[in-house]
Amino acid sequence: MLQIKTDVVIVGAGLAGIYTALNIDSHKRVDIVVKESLIVTNSNLAQGGIAGELDFIQENIDAHIEDTLKAGSYLNNKEAVKILVTEASENINKLMKFQVAFDRDESGDILLTKEGGHSTRRILHSGGDATGKDIMEALKNECYTRENIHIHEDMMALDLLYQENTCFGVCCLAKGTEVIEFIAQSTILATGGIGNIYGSTTNSAIATSDGIGMAYRANIELENLEFIQFHPTAFHNEYSKSRFKFLISEALRGEGAYLINSEGERFMKKYTPLLELAPRDKVSQAIYREMYDTWTDHVYLDTKHLGEEFLKNRFPTIYKHLKEENIIMGKDLIPVSPVQHFNVGGIKVNLDGLTSMKNLYANGECASNGVHGANRLASNSLLECVVFGNRIANKINEKISKNINYDSNITEYHSYKYNYKPIKKKLGLTMDEYVGIVRTKEGLLFAKKIIVKMEKNLLKYPNNSKAYYEALNMVQTALIIINSASLRKESIGCHYRLN
Ligand SMILES: Cc1cc2nc3c(=O)[nH]c(=O)nc-3n(C[C@H](O)[C@H](O)[C@H](O)COP(=O)(O)OP(=O)(O)OC[C@H]3O[C@@H](n4cnc5c(N)ncnc54)[C@H](O)[C@@H]3O)c2cc1C
Repeated sequence: MLQIKTDVVIVGAGLAGIYTALNIDSHKRVDIVVKESLIVTNSNLAQGGIAGELDFIQENIDAHIEDTLKAGSYLNNKEAVKILVTEASENINKLMKFQVAFDRDESGDILLTKEGGHSTRRILHSGGDATGKDIMEALKNECYTRENIHIHEDMMALDLLYQENTCFGVCCLAKGTEVIEFIAQSTILATGGIGNIYGSTTNSAIATSDGIGMAYRANIELENLEFIQFHPTAFHNEYSKSRFKFLISEALRGEGAYLINSEGERFMKKYTPLLELAPRDKVSQAIYREMYDTWTDHVYLDTKHLGEEFLKNRFPTIYKHLKEENIIMGKDLIPVSPVQHFNVGGIKVNLDGLTSMKNLYANGECASNGVHGANRLASNSLLECVVFGNRIANKINEKISKNINYDSNITEYHSYKYNYKPIKKKLGLTMDEYVGIVRTKEGLLFAKKIIVKMEKNLLKYPNNSKAYYEALNMVQTALIIINSASLRKESIGCHYRLN
C-alpha cells in the first residue's frame, strides 16, 4: 500500500479547502484529495454571492453582526460572528488579488445586492448569478501556479488515521481501487454538505456528509446537527425524478420578486412584516403551511413586474436554465418549493478551526464554529469558508515541519461492486417525510427505527468502495441528525417541532 508523507492534507477542494490551501506557506507541502473532479462542489453552484462589509464603518459592521445573530435566533457563538464580519474585508480583498472579478457598475464601483435577513445591500456577486463558479475558477487557476500544492482528483477519503486522539492523516481510495495513506502533520476536513441524505436537495452529488461520517467514527465532537436549512425556492419540476433541484437564488427576491400561492395570493404578509425577505427558515415554514392549506406541492415566484431584459442580464444562469424548461423570467410564473439546502451544524471547531482531535481541523459546510446559530444568514457561508480558512492556515503556518512515522493497520481489503442505491433512495424518502421542515416526536422515532436497521446491515458487510463509504456516512449522519432533533424539543431557527 502506498503512503505519501506531507505537511498538510486537505480533504475537499471546494472554497473551504482550496482557499485554506492557498493561504498556507509555500515551503509547506499541501496535498488536496478530491472525491470527483475539481468542479463538482457546492461552492461551484453558489449563485447569490458573498456577504461582507468592505469598509470598516462601525454602524455597518454592527448591522451585519446583528443580522447574522437574528437569523440564527441568537444561538450563535458571538465571538465567531464578530470574527466572521470583521475579517470579511481582508479575505474578500484577497479573493480579488486571486483575480476574482466581482460585478461592478459603469464607474467601477462594486455592485451590491440584498438577500433575506440582510438589513442593507452588502452582498458581492460575480457573473450576475455565477458567483461560486467564478470564484472557484479563479482560485483553481491560482492553485495551478503553486508548486507546493498537489491536487489528487478521483481520490475518496475513507477514514481518518489516528491514535489516542491525535490525527496522523487520512486513508483514501484512488480511482476506486488503490488504497493510499496520506501521513500528515495537519489534516483538514473540508468535505462540504450533507444534501444527498434527503430525497430533494440543491446540493451537488458529492454532498454525502463524508467528513462528518469520518469524524463520528473517530469519536470527534459534533454539534447542532438538528439545524438543517431548507431553501424556500428550488425550481419545482413535477416531471423530474432527480434528487438534485435547481436553485432559484434568494437574490431574485432581493431584487423584488415575490411569492404567491396557487390562488394567486401574495401570502408572506400573513406571516411576517419582512415579507419575502425574512430569513430562510421563516419563508420555508410559511411556504410549507401554504402548500398544506392549499393542497398543492409548490407555490410560485412572480417576477412579471421586474421585466425580462433586466432579469436576463442580472440572472443569466437562472434565465438560461428556466428557458430550457420553457419558462421565461419576467413573463411566466416560476413554480418553486422548499428543499434541503445547507447543513448549519457539523464537526465542532474552535475559532481557529481546530476540532476536538489534535492536529485535525475542519472548515466550510462540514464544520461548526457557531457562526450560524440555529439558521444561516444568506451568503454568509462562502464568507465563512474564507475567513476561517485563513485562520486555519495562519495556525498551520506557525507549526514547524517535522517527520511523522505512522504504522498502517490496514490488513484486509474487500471491495464489492454494490451500488447501495436502494439504501440511498429509502434514506432520502424517510428523511424528507419525517425529518424535514416540520418534525414530530413520532416521526423522528419512526425514521430512527428504519435507519438504525440500515446502519446495522452496512456495518455487518463492510466494503472498501466509494459507494459503501458514502452510504455509511449518509446513514450515520442521518441518525445523528435524528438524535439531535429528538433531543431539542423546542422550535427554534430551522428546527421546527410540532410536538
Ligand atoms: C445551489 C447552491 C447555492 C448556494 N449559494 C450560495 C451563495 O450564494 N452564497 C453563499 O454564501 N453560500 C451559498 N451556498 C452554500 C455554499 O455554496 C456552501 O456552503 C459552500 O460552498 C461549501 O463549501 P465547502 O468547501 O465546505 O464544500 P464544497 O464546495 O461542497 O466542497 C466539498 C469538497 O469536498 C470533496 N469531498 C467530499 N467528500 C470527500 C471525500 N470523502 N474524499 C475526498 N473529497 C471529498 C468534494 O469532492 C469537494 O471538492 C449555496 C449552496 C448551494 C448548493
